[in-house]
Amino acid sequence: MKLRTLAVGLVVSALALTACGREGAPPASPAGTPGGGTAAPALSYEVAQNVSLPDSPTFQKMQQRGRIQMGVKNDQPGLGQVDPTTNTYSGFDVEIGRLIAAKLGFSPDKIDYVVVQSAAREDALSRGDVDYYVGTYTINDNRKQRVGFAGPYFVAGQDLLVRADDTSITGPQALQGKTVCSVTGSTPIQRVREQGLTQNIVEFQTYTQCVDQLVQGQVDAVTTDDAILKGYAAQRPDELKVVGQTFSKEPYGIGVALADTALRNKINDILEQAESDGTWQKIYDATLGLSGSPASPPAVERY
Ligand code: GLU
Repeated sequence: MKLRTLAVGLVVSALALTACGREGAPPASPAGTPGGGTAAPALSYEVAQNVSLPDSPTFQKMQQRGRIQMGVKNDQPGLGQVDPTTNTYSGFDVEIGRLIAAKLGFSPDKIDYVVVQSAAREDALSRGDVDYYVGTYTINDNRKQRVGFAGPYFVAGQDLLVRADDTSITGPQALQGKTVCSVTGSTPIQRVREQGLTQNIVEFQTYTQCVDQLVQGQVDAVTTDDAILKGYAAQRPDELKVVGQTFSKEPYGIGVALADTALRNKINDILEQAESDGTWQKIYDATLGLSGSPASPPAVERY
């Protein structure tokens, strides 16, 4: 299992933009559970008819193609994960992406999943490789210069993942002299550098690679959003734990092409509707919420 994970990680790192695939047959439990476990009820969304978005160039492309190119992660349990045996995607981000597709008039079989790692997101969106991106993507001013963001639809916080028997790392201030792993182009790695939390930083294209390094004793901690880290800890509860002292706010947005304000506005409408009619809560409860932490939706910010 370790070997396969590693092999997948290596392939993923070799190509920042790794995969584009249609899904296999839907599994018994498409919602997915962080780390496996209780089967969640299947989620499905009513597909809107006769959607028209004349001012959105991206929407015109989707309609001509008859399919959506949805940017996702594939190795973040509870958020965006693929089951390699069935090629089925699951998680909170994936469900939010499917909901948006449905409200744009596209059923789940019309979605192509395009895996884009953190460092390649702005390029993928500005080149039009993906129509929109849903994958733990923090909204910030720097990124807003290159892409547009709908949302936020969730707020995470930077945290630390350590080995279960480690009592020395109790929070960010305890990282001095320790080796920390994170992902190229992510906000957490930038924060470690800017705040000088440690000088020993190891970086990869995916968090899976960092987690493997942590389990093997090559690094002392992995840092990124708590929502992501909790998924890895749930997969290996005997080996790993999340420290639980968040030290940032990471508001997750849906990335769109910079100039496509019409699509951004439409996705904001879809999110607001889902937040008020209970759909957001249903999605959360069937995915990330299975880990036991309750959450409610943040207000959408239109800028
Ligand atoms: N939310 C952070 C970011 O957008 C970390 C997670 C990620 O790399 O996707 O950079």
